[in-house]
Amino acid sequence: MRITIDPIIKEIAGIFNSNNKEIYLVGGAVRDKLRGKKIHDWDMTTNALPDEVTAIIKKAGGKVIPTGIKHGTVTVLFKNISTEITTFRTESDYSDGRRPDKVNYAATIEEDLSRRDFTMNAIALRLPKGEIVDPFKGLKDIKAKIIRCVGDANERFNEDGLRPLRAARFAAQLNYKIEKNTLEAINGALAVSAKVSWERVREEIDKILASAVPSLGFRIMEKTGLLKLFLEELTLCRGIEQKGFHQYDVLDHNFLTCDYAAAKGFSKETRLAALFHDIGKPSVRELDPSGVWTFYRHEEVSSEMCRVILNRLRYSNAVIDKVCHLVNQHMFLYTENWTDAAVRRFIARVGEDHLNDIYSLRRADIYGFSGKEPDYRSIKQLVERVNKVLTKGRAFTIKDLAVSGKDLMEIGIPGGKMMGVILKELLETVIDDPEQNTKERLKQIAEKTYKR
Ligand code: ATP
Ligand code: MG
Repeated sequence: MRITIDPIIKEIAGIFNSNNKEIYLVGGAVRDKLRGKKIHDWDMTTNALPDEVTAIIKKAGGKVIPTGIKHGTVTVLFKNISTEITTFRTESDYSDGRRPDKVNYAATIEEDLSRRDFTMNAIALRLPKGEIVDPFKGLKDIKAKIIRCVGDANERFNEDGLRPLRAARFAAQLNYKIEKNTLEAINGALAVSAKVSWERVREEIDKILASAVPSLGFRIMEKTGLLKLFLEELTLCRGIEQKGFHQYDVLDHNFLTCDYAAAKGFSKETRLAALFHDIGKPSVRELDPSGVWTFYRHEEVSSEMCRVILNRLRYSNAVIDKVCHLVNQHMFLYTENWTDAAVRRFIARVGEDHLNDIYSLRRADIYGFSGKEPDYRSIKQLVERVNKVLTKGRAFTIKDLAVSGKDLMEIGIPGGKMMGVILKELLETVIDDPEQNTKERLKQIAEKTYKR
């Protein structure tokens, strides 16, 4: 196998070698190179101590930032490349299952590789030439598309409870299978996984969501108990049967919707909304007198539950607000007899900025009924109607009104709560009939409403 290495990386390696230090390419960069993929970050490891790395690079005119000095890592800026260089490490104690207690340096590359999580991640390329150092047969596993722990899986997972989740993430990201012993060891380490910080859990969930088929990862999580641990609300959707067009229970439906949502033009928010869009169904389900299941107001309950979950996972407020809004708005059924006013009310309710995401979510939701490409004609028609309405002008928020609060104060309407109510009413009037959106007309209406 011929491996080309970036010339600047080779130059950095040459500088280390001339200082009598070994340096290797490691981690995801090697894995992805051996898979024939493009590399986004160049992680390296060396037998030079962090202080020595700093001195060597500075002497050669580069910059060093002690980004992860606690773990023996520095970030090196050299020419136009930024790379992380970590001193050989050994497995240290993880007394809390979260982070190693302290960094212990290793003497050899083999020892450094032995503390890494999976065989595919425990391969090094010796620089500058790129000879493969592969003591755990990672290359063979890459060829067979297998995720396997380095050494004893039970031990490795009990050292760091994030590793099981990483296994599920890599399975989705790479479309690899998890080797039997590795898979079986996940369940025995759940108590350790429970101690992992929510931020680290979220990073892995984000990577699952960004995979081509996220449900591959979520199904492994379900099978091994990780889903119950981190996203218990989803596991409660298992076995919740639906009626009508639905062919799947609520959990499989959520998974399928998630796989399909924003598959082209990735949007994390839309995928999250898809994953959770029906999560409230188990709690609102009722059998109506004709023997059909109903899920009255499930979009509101789902949106509320979604907020709890996303807060727990420490997503930003911007992400949380958007996802919950999409979930809350995911139920609409366009028919040709919608009036232009109904189309405008739809735009106002969803918000112009969220239209593309809501179409995408709705399409995915319909796909999730059957798992087959359905007829999207009604959504296509809605998009056309919306676009047509938008060419005729935009008055969907209070800011778009031809009058301001100041104008209304001038005609004697007091500021405060009453002003809010009147502006809202004016907006509804304008959404129903945009012709009313003139200063004179709105002032008249406001005055009438106020005196009422
Ligand atoms: P990505 O493409 O997501 O960056 P990666 O394999 O580079 O994948 P990183 O989290 O960047 O993953 O870690 C770099 C390397 O460090 C891994 O390939 C692995 O060798 C090692 N590593 C990372 N996290 C762990 C862990 N929790 N336990 C053991 N080894 C780990
Ligand atoms: Mg990486």
